[in-house]
Amino acid sequence: MPLTGIEIFKLLPKTNCKECGVPTCLAFAMSLATGKAELSACPHVSEEAKAQLQEASAPPIRPVTIGVGDTALKVGGETVMFRHEKRFENPPGIALLIKDTMEDSEVNARLERFKQLQYERVGLTLRPELIAIKDESGDATKFEALVNKVKQNSDGGIILMSDNPDILAAGVKACADRKPLLYAATKDNLDSVAGLAKENSCPVAAKASSLDEAADLTSRLTAAGINDIVIDSGSRTVRQAFEDQVIIRSAALTNKFRPLGFPTITFPSEMTDNPMKEAVIASMFVAKYGGIIVLSDFQGESLFPLLVERLNIYTDPQRPLATTQGIYEIGGPDENSPVLITSNFSLTYFIVSGEIESSKVPSWLLVMDTEGLSVMTSWAAGKFVADAIGPFVKKSGITDKVKHHKLIIPGYAAAESGGLEEELPDWEILIGPREGALIPAYLKTWKQ
Ligand code: SF4
Repeated sequence: MPLTGIEIFKLLPKTNCKECGVPTCLAFAMSLATGKAELSACPHVSEEAKAQLQEASAPPIRPVTIGVGDTALKVGGETVMFRHEKRFENPPGIALLIKDTMEDSEVNARLERFKQLQYERVGLTLRPELIAIKDESGDATKFEALVNKVKQNSDGGIILMSDNPDILAAGVKACADRKPLLYAATKDNLDSVAGLAKENSCPVAAKASSLDEAADLTSRLTAAGINDIVIDSGSRTVRQAFEDQVIIRSAALTNKFRPLGFPTITFPSEMTDNPMKEAVIASMFVAKYGGIIVLSDFQGESLFPLLVERLNIYTDPQRPLATTQGIYEIGGPDENSPVLITSNFSLTYFIVSGEIESSKVPSWLLVMDTEGLSVMTSWAAGKFVADAIGPFVKKSGITDKVKHHKLIIPGYAAAESGGLEEELPDWEILIGPREGALIPAYLKTWKQ
């Protein structure tokens, strides 16, 4: 059983030193009990107390990693029911299904789609992460050959799907180094699949036919020493599967019920034959509360909206998306190219850089750290003003790249031009357009 706030408090140093970021040890204990703080934030807790507090400080939904290296996917680790309470932590993985009964041409086409359908947005790569390889043939050799093929032709994480432990073992033999998710341990094969997972240090999915059974399976798996577990509640109707997701999340977070404190795997692929309806069902699990979402197939028009929905829901609502401060080269600028400056709100950066690119006038873009605020907001907040812009321009290194000294500032910051002439006396301050859409026409008039 998890410890209460008061029980945790008794184990803390009680010095109220504030180093954990809250005013008192009691406040820290309460945050720890509700999963809103991490034990590592207190540097003074004793080793003995640490051991006792592990249980209380563990996230109520265990984070589980599938795969290895740069493309490893972490799911779970959630601490809140609603995004506005804090933030959602780990976006659900999107998986593409490939069956061992499919023609080679179909397998190749799916692998190609998996590779190609990746999108750059606000500086991030949006993409599907997993390939679910399903045994339908009952033939271990065929399954292993498909796993090998997927492994060689994709960097995605792998889910091995079979109820037969021997076939799962053949799949694991081919890709154990990629730490695949074994799907699934059921009440009938749990001991064999648990043994396989333990031997190869792989996460395992527990497939049940009810939530009670799911709790029983996860308890048996943890008793067998397996902690990296993903839950399939077994429901394949939209309503029941949705209810299961909410109950699992609530049981883990609100009631601290450890047997359901794991991420889930959901199967829109098994809930409809209509591809667009499947995408709509998947979008429901993105919002509530799928850990992995397995799709029977996808095309750009069904995948991209899911990726964008996921991005929007899993960004931290308290922190604006920001671009790194620095000098950005657009279109291969040289020493005569114009120099523009803007704020580091990601959307501002992408609009401004996109408009510069479409102008076909090679340019230098200085992006200044305004804590992710747009030009107008940061100007109003005193962050995009002459006495901040001046020192930034001097330190940026732009003078090593251009031989002119002309700086184009956004039209919304025109009021700073006088102050900038004082801050940067050897620079000519030019006032650019207010709107990004007017940048191409403005740049076409550029003369050094
Ligand atoms: Fe108490 Fe530790 Fe926080 Fe200090 S850092 S106030 S000792 S919980």
